[in-house]
Amino acid sequence: MEDPGARIDIRLLDELRQYGEFNVINCFSCGHCTAVCNLVKSGEAFPRRVIRYAVLGLRDKLAAEKAVWSCYYCGECTAACPRQATPGQFMDAARRYFIVNWDVTTLSRRFYTSPRFTWISMTVLAVVLAVLFLATGGRMVSERPAFFEFMNYAFLHYLGYAVMALVGLVFAANFANMARQIMRTFPKTPGHGPGSWIKDGVRAVMDVVQELALQKEFDECKVKESENREPWYLSRRVMHLAIMWGFLGLLGATTFDFLFKEPGSHVPLYYPARLLGTLAGLLLLYGTSLALWLRREKKGGLSFEKSYLSDWLLLWLLWAITLSGYLTEIAVYLPRGFFLGYLILLVHTILALELMLLVPFTKFSHVIYRPVALYLHALLLRRRARSLPLNWDASRYRPREAVPSTSGPV
Ligand code: SF4
Ligand code: SF4
Repeated sequence: MEDPGARIDIRLLDELRQYGEFNVINCFSCGHCTAVCNLVKSGEAFPRRVIRYAVLGLRDKLAAEKAVWSCYYCGECTAACPRQATPGQFMDAARRYFIVNWDVTTLSRRFYTSPRFTWISMTVLAVVLAVLFLATGGRMVSERPAFFEFMNYAFLHYLGYAVMALVGLVFAANFANMARQIMRTFPKTPGHGPGSWIKDGVRAVMDVVQELALQKEFDECKVKESENREPWYLSRRVMHLAIMWGFLGLLGATTFDFLFKEPGSHVPLYYPARLLGTLAGLLLLYGTSLALWLRREKKGGLSFEKSYLSDWLLLWLLWAITLSGYLTEIAVYLPRGFFLGYLILLVHTILALELMLLVPFTKFSHVIYRPVALYLHALLLRRRARSLPLNWDASRYRPREAVPSTSGPV
């Protein structure tokens, strides 16, 4: 029977090159990169093996590589490579490539490869949203802040639902693509009852939550640590944690407001949702400001040395949304309504909707793809482990004693 993972596509490397600058054609498979990567556990062979898949044109094997999503782009492998094959940059490009590859709308390709398309579509979208908001509301009361007379609440409410439904549909279709491609190369395991599926599904969630909640692997990536030691508050791990928890906190505060608070009603600063939103906003503002500074200064490792429009766009959007959110909050507590306050609210709402609409097509989507890919891998490994003898390594699909060293054939 044909092994679907063995299908060769000679265009693969050229396609990958559209999403990053790397030089893996120079790779002579020495395994230095694997030896220095702190994420490599005994018996694994990335990024060396992943590079072989790309060079040989094995798209399905590459798609099914967990390493593409667990790599934190520390750049240690690039620094160690004697052939300047830039394996770290390759791993980053592979992530972008698959986000594009799994997108059924093909819009991601346009957003990742064409700054012109990105700017034009964002401007058009902003203008359309502004016109819609002003046409359905637009009343500026000056005696008191009256934000839901300026913004038509019902319109905003239903527009929010429509945007969420649209984004959810696109992700559902993309996830189906992703799961199909990842599962294609996994060997079929004999059937077990639905109970075992539920058990494995729950355990796989725990595997992924443990990794993502604390992002410990950032600490395992200690690139050039001896010569480039930053204080903890400027580290990539703290930056990522601040952005992730800040964003989740704001999402929680907005959902709480949406479910329990009377629209437009006045609440004190210690109201739970407001307090959560304020603290989460501070975290997000810190994380995004630090990320923007590190990128501008090209500090903090390889991942900040080269930035693409998609990197800047995500950070600036998050930063501007958080800042305008704070300014809107101040305006809410002023005794009068001001033109500037209404304008900032309009900008804040438009940017937040743009961010939501662009999630499936821009760098922001890695926030969704990464946990889902890690989850699929954790689940498939647990399923596979059920059908293997005890002395087999499920991640390598071979007996433990036969696990190869970091160099040698793939
Ligand atoms: S270090 Fe890795 S990328 Fe560089 S030549 Fe060796 S195997 Fe290839
Ligand atoms: S960039 Fe870092 S985490 Fe990613 S493969 Fe290279 S050494 Fe490993």
